[in-house]
Amino acid sequence: MSMTSAPRPNPLRDGTVASYDPRVWAQSWSPQPAGSPGTLGRMGPARRSAIALGAGAGILALGALTAIAMRPAGTGAGAGGIGALPAASATPAEPAEVRHTLILAHAGDLTGMLTGQGLDPDTAQKVTTAALPALKPDGQVRAVLVFRHDGDKLAFARLEASNGDSSGVVVRRAASGAFASARVAAQVSTRTFVVHGTMDGDSFYTSALAVGMPNSLIPVFARALSFDFNFQTEVSAGDAFEAAYTQPVNASGEVAGVPVLLYASLTTATKSAAVYRFDQNGQEAWFDASGRSTVHALMRTPVDGARVTSKFGMRFHPVLHFMKLHGGIDFAAPIGTPIYASGEGQIEFAGPKGPNGNFVKLRHTNGWETLYLHMNRFAQGIVEGAHVAQGQQIGEIGTTGRSTGPHLHYEVHINGEQVDPLDVPTDNAAAKALDTRDLLAFEAVRDRVDVSRAQQSQ
Ligand SMILES: [Zn+2]
Repeated sequence: MSMTSAPRPNPLRDGTVASYDPRVWAQSWSPQPAGSPGTLGRMGPARRSAIALGAGAGILALGALTAIAMRPAGTGAGAGGIGALPAASATPAEPAEVRHTLILAHAGDLTGMLTGQGLDPDTAQKVTTAALPALKPDGQVRAVLVFRHDGDKLAFARLEASNGDSSGVVVRRAASGAFASARVAAQVSTRTFVVHGTMDGDSFYTSALAVGMPNSLIPVFARALSFDFNFQTEVSAGDAFEAAYTQPVNASGEVAGVPVLLYASLTTATKSAAVYRFDQNGQEAWFDASGRSTVHALMRTPVDGARVTSKFGMRFHPVLHFMKLHGGIDFAAPIGTPIYASGEGQIEFAGPKGPNGNFVKLRHTNGWETLYLHMNRFAQGIVEGAHVAQGQQIGEIGTTGRSTGPHLHYEVHINGEQVDPLDVPTDNAAAKALDTRDLLAFEAVRDRVDVSRAQQSQ
């Protein structure tokens, strides 16, 4: 696998990779400064892995336990706790407070942690009771236990406990001896992340994961570009992709919510496409940089108010008088009834052609083609090579060529094969062009994404 940007497993702070795995959140929490070692106590696997990240954290903890429970800072460090206690404790200038930071697998571990840290059971219970209402029952809790020097002992000063989204609570012992809690609101902001890489020889899925695209965005990315690329046949190793998405982060820069894809681009050997998300009526919708919708699905019928007189399938041919595949659908309507391009595309052929009569062939993305036969005449500008929009009138109903009466014979070819037009996926939400106000809003969204991409592409 090759990538234009190396995978960075834990660079939440530089905004390149975000993970929703709580284990990674724990890793991203900064190790505490010297003098505030973590401690082990009772803990679940998640907590163990989190704490193990700090080199020697386990060793530090042993010394801390001894010291806090029994005696003034400094004397307990000898039993193997290298720097286990505040280094300053051996000098006259002791820190006013000692902070111990711990990661709990869940809030239910709080009491056990507090007693493990040397609080008497009654105090531990009261602190827990004051803190619990602010803590989420699921998910890790970051607990900072703060002690102050009280003569030659360490006394509980306060507990600062926070959830993954940075909301939490501070519990202190008031002068009266009671415990007072103060809630802390989550400080969540939305950050834009950009990832880019190249396709490996395996799959888009593995390629995207390798550069840190959140799992949940991978199908969204493929969907956003599905009108421009067939991911099964048109994408191969070495093709370049880029994605931009937003995700809520808390005050520490840890992801704290669901990511939303804003931009997707893909460049293969033969073509390139980039799309921006701009929701319409609450529906996910994608547009190219100029604000054109990427919806290229075909309209169900290219004629209004027509009657289907012959469906797709084997038929006794009314003119040739033998069984033959009827490779399309016949829509009967009066001469002059407008015929519309059922999808955006380019005109591959427009002109008279033997039994087809006046005939138009449109080429759409993904190798799709639509064919319109027996037209009375073509609309203005319908010539080979011209580009037509979905729903643009290309001609009108006639009965030219081998035809028994006014009708449109309509075919859909996918990768060169005739398919039943009624089986072709259509999209009723086929987007209209953005109106002026939406276009301005779209351009603002697009420009914000592009600024983020530029900033993060170094
Ligand atoms: Zn027909």
